[in-house]
Amino acid sequence: MTTTAPDPTAPDPTAPDPTAPAPTAPAPAARRSSGALIEAENACLAHNYHPLPVVVAHAEGAWVRDVEGRRYLDMLAGYSALNFGHRHPALIEAARSQLDHVTLTSRAFHNDRLAGFAEGLAQLTGLDMTLPMNTGAEAVESAVKIARKWAYEVKGVAEDRATVIVASGNFHGRTTTIVSFSDDPTARTGFGPFTPGFRTVPYDDLAALEAAVDETTAAVLLEPIQGEAGVRIPSDGYLAGVRELASRRGILFIADEIQSGLGRTGATLAVEHEGVRPDLLLLGKALGGGIVPVSAVVGRRDVMGVLRPGEHGSTFGGNPLAAAVGTAVVDLLNTGEFQQRARELGSVLTERLSQLVGRGVLAFRARGLWAGVDVDPAIGTGREISERLLAEGILVKDTHGSTIRLAPPLTLTREELESALDSLQKVLYRL
Ligand SMILES: *Cc1c(COP(=O)(O)O)cnc(C)c1O
Repeated sequence: MTTTAPDPTAPDPTAPDPTAPAPTAPAPAARRSSGALIEAENACLAHNYHPLPVVVAHAEGAWVRDVEGRRYLDMLAGYSALNFGHRHPALIEAARSQLDHVTLTSRAFHNDRLAGFAEGLAQLTGLDMTLPMNTGAEAVESAVKIARKWAYEVKGVAEDRATVIVASGNFHGRTTTIVSFSDDPTARTGFGPFTPGFRTVPYDDLAALEAAVDETTAAVLLEPIQGEAGVRIPSDGYLAGVRELASRRGILFIADEIQSGLGRTGATLAVEHEGVRPDLLLLGKALGGGIVPVSAVVGRRDVMGVLRPGEHGSTFGGNPLAAAVGTAVVDLLNTGEFQQRARELGSVLTERLSQLVGRGVLAFRARGLWAGVDVDPAIGTGREISERLLAEGILVKDTHGSTIRLAPPLTLTREELESALDSLQKVLYRL
């Protein structure tokens, strides 16, 4: 057998032809205009959102900048996922330094960041044990599973009979089980068949809750303040009443604080306003510092103890990067600074919104730095108001009908808050 050495002077057939026209690679995303990017998104992304027409390319603190360099004050803060603002230096530093060590192990092995994260959450919440997950919906799903298992193993509910009581107007996420107990037709229609085992009672109605409890009841699952419903705040005494009822009737109180928790209302948790501790607490959104998705079920040891190896899990849940960022979030909350800012700026927010009632605003509900503002529908839909605010350089999001939600980063300054409210006033008065 003979081999021929390649002739070094022959042209390389794989070399680019220098006379060929330059390849027409698509321009890098950052070079395309906002309009072109929105068009491209519409062409190739599922239309499950209807975003306001702004294309964010950079953000810092309470401010974002679009592709053309226009600046906007972020008064939504990722639905409270950005309670500490965009790219908070302590959170970016925690993520950056963790990237140099280890980012993912899976729970097949231990990692050196998870214990500290769980200890921090226990200390922050007064509860015992953490189940780390990623998204809010996963935390809700996990809590439903834990409550059902607790009902069978501890309470003695007959097999497959456990029920969970939920409230009207709830928002707990988007999975098939969670939309099964939503009463929002847009969230449900076309997605059946639905998971059984849920009972809906009116929110903020203790008598209805009491009447719905029977020997099959595992838990009551509630948002201490209903965010998507338009920042709906229950009457004083409701959460304390739910706590008392749950203890007396032998059911679990599951508080979904995915949006209301972690400083937003002026306390670490919204249940603290009534001195209440739930049996299971659901955290998400701001727990990931606006950097990575991090959620958790935090609960009583005897309840969390029903889970045994192999019965529940998540590949990414509790990964070292998430745990490092989550620990840094807990550290920020332990300073108390953000809760205090939410209280102080919250009183400015309430004061200014009160002045708008009867002048374009029908009513509003606010707790801490969080408000649902019902705009007079004669002036415009929530969407139209949001678009007009966008033109003024203010980012907000409507919820149902003519309600807009204000939930800026807790790091915003008083001047920034005042200027956002000046813009709201201008938009309402001009109409
Ligand atoms: C956002 C939210 C969820 C769902 O969280 P995802 O991370 O979007 O799955 C659940 N409950 C409440 C109260 C929320 O606000």
